[in-house]
Amino acid sequence: MSRPNVFFAAAVAALCLSPASNAGDVRTASALRDRALNDPTAWNLLESLTEIGPRMVGTPQYLRARDWGIARLKALGFAKVHAEAFAKPSWHRGGEAAEVVGPYPQKLAIVGLGGSPATPPNGVEAPVVVLRSYADLVAARPNAFKGKIVVVNQPMTRTMDGSGYGAAVVARYGASEAAKRGAVAYLVRSISTGEGRAPHTGTAVNDNNNAPPVPTAALGVPDADQLERMAARGPVRVRLRLASWSDPNSVAWNISGEITGSAKPGEIVVIGGHLDSWDPGTGAIDDGAGVAITAAAASLIARLPQHPRRTIRMVMFGSEESGGSSDAYLAAHRSELKNIVIVSEADLGSDRAYDVKLAAANAPALAPLRAVLAPLRVFVSATPPTHGGSDVEGLHKAGVPIFSVDQDATRYFDIHHSADDTLAVVDRAQLNQNVAVMASVVYLTADSNVDFRTKPGN
Ligand code: ZN
Ligand code: ZN
Repeated sequence: MSRPNVFFAAAVAALCLSPASNAGDVRTASALRDRALNDPTAWNLLESLTEIGPRMVGTPQYLRARDWGIARLKALGFAKVHAEAFAKPSWHRGGEAAEVVGPYPQKLAIVGLGGSPATPPNGVEAPVVVLRSYADLVAARPNAFKGKIVVVNQPMTRTMDGSGYGAAVVARYGASEAAKRGAVAYLVRSISTGEGRAPHTGTAVNDNNNAPPVPTAALGVPDADQLERMAARGPVRVRLRLASWSDPNSVAWNISGEITGSAKPGEIVVIGGHLDSWDPGTGAIDDGAGVAITAAAASLIARLPQHPRRTIRMVMFGSEESGGSSDAYLAAHRSELKNIVIVSEADLGSDRAYDVKLAAANAPALAPLRAVLAPLRVFVSATPPTHGGSDVEGLHKAGVPIFSVDQDATRYFDIHHSADDTLAVVDRAQLNQNVAVMASVVYLTADSNVDFRTKPGN
């Protein structure tokens, strides 16, 4: 602890002696970075948030998490801490089970997908048809699967940037395509890069807000493979029971707090993570980590002797998993869109960051960024950012520039949305490396005059 504090004190002294500048100086940013690497704030936040347990909208734990968020932001010294309510129908898991009825009776590891209707109390029992890809499902003729339970067993590709997810996750929304072809239920291999039996949930309500028309669940990876092998040898019957239910009248909250800018408080850098989580685990990497990283980064900046020029706003988005917070945030903040200079959400776990993408990365005021990030083994990418996080998509589409801190997602989808998403999988050193990167980027961005809406070179 002492070494970073010595560096920090030296940098503070340097800052006090140096004349006021328009951009954050490299010494202050470097001291901030080093302090972040040993600061306990992110870990403490993540530990206490995951202790609450899973945080599905409409549950008592979710309300506890909302109160936790407000209390923590206040305790960390944020200003203007408040919660913005919005209507959000909620889906609730009931008892669930699946089994092979024949030829070889055995239990299957499953988890219901968000938005799934319930089965009748005794379940739905039918022969299965196993397809090896989602494309095979879409290519099938109408009524091809009449009276069947369709299983899509399409594996997900492991990649460092997590891009395999986009190609694989379409299969999780396959219930309506299966139903169109006569299926009575739809099972999908977990959208997972792992080999473990814990199934991975996620929403099955598509972008057009269409709930799945037939009961749908994810299978453990080995269970999906088992069904494929069995079905290759002859008829297989499966029974599925889901007792899920929905509440159309529930409420979610976006919670935020600010570090007020010292020179241009009306210009705002927005960062955040999402507070809601799926229920098999405790939402440590998805997305307790994003909440902890961004709140800790902002609070470290708040402890500097002088706040950066612009205001930093930290948002705990209230409903990412089944959608809602992006639209709600845009609707509530339309009048200040011009004042939001840049936005980013951390929502890819807690493993180390390796690059930063931001518009206007070549602006002279951001030159210190490369030097500050290099010791963290993070580079400033020449590629412009394309995705700032799903909760800030509404802001981005409305013209707000984004940045992204890209994290190593190699093992993220082994864990994501499964019972394994707990504090046990979080590496504290990598978590803090993320805090250091986020704090550096946010500090230099907020202390600059860079207009991210201006194209580089203008
Ligand atoms: Zn997430
Ligand atoms: Zn998620």
